[in-house]
Amino acid sequence: MSRKALIAANWKMYKTPAEAKAFVEAFLPLVANQTRDEIALFPSATSLTTVVAATAGSNVAVGLQNMHWAEEGAYTGETSAAMLKAAGATHTLIGHSERRQYFNETDELVNLKLHTALRRGIVPVVCIGEVLDEREAGKTADVLCTQLRGAFSGIAPEAAAPIVIAYEPVWAIGTGKTATPEIAADAHKIIRREVAQILSPAIAESVRILYGGSVKPENASALLTQHDIDGALVGGASLKPDSLAAIVNY
Ligand code: PEP
Repeated sequence: MSRKALIAANWKMYKTPAEAKAFVEAFLPLVANQTRDEIALFPSATSLTTVVAATAGSNVAVGLQNMHWAEEGAYTGETSAAMLKAAGATHTLIGHSERRQYFNETDELVNLKLHTALRRGIVPVVCIGEVLDEREAGKTADVLCTQLRGAFSGIAPEAAAPIVIAYEPVWAIGTGKTATPEIAADAHKIIRREVAQILSPAIAESVRILYGGSVKPENASALLTQHDIDGALVGGASLKPDSLAAIVNY
């Protein structure tokens, strides 16, 4: 089965609305003929409506970098699924390692958010990955499987089709150290095998597993041509239109 790759740009806490608009204006012509892969931009919440308006009618989707699990309520500083959708976004990242590291986002919270995203028809990009100590201690497979089991608890296979997984070894994020294509492909195989166990073999076959961690134009092709790698989640190299376009057009 062929899986349509997704190239997702995580802008983190960069770009004002004006900067985001300028990016989109420069970026769209560079990827206008791209139909092989899906493309999604994840700006900060304050730039969401600007980016949605600037990408309207194009081949570029828009998502939030984080979303709350509750429908609404007294959760200062948070954004709900309804707000995300009303702003015109279609995707959300869930459980990015920076959320896990700096905002105590646990597998339980990831699970709550995943349930909400699926219930509300939002495409969830669930991020998992091991830290360096875990890799060096030979625990990568255990960590990935534990994160997957936590994230997918109570998710019915029939509801799971929209899920996207991003494998992001934490030691490769923002460090310039990319996992070799072989290391990434091995991890993706482990993830696909575990998804077959937790959800179903059919979901394991169709689920898109992105690689994230210092993807740049120079290494995109080697990573993205691996059989089990179905796209990329790109941080630093997604901040410049030329650089993201070069990854999209690898
Ligand atoms: C990310 O933020 O998800 C990421 C992979 O960042 P970078 O590409 O900068 O390593």
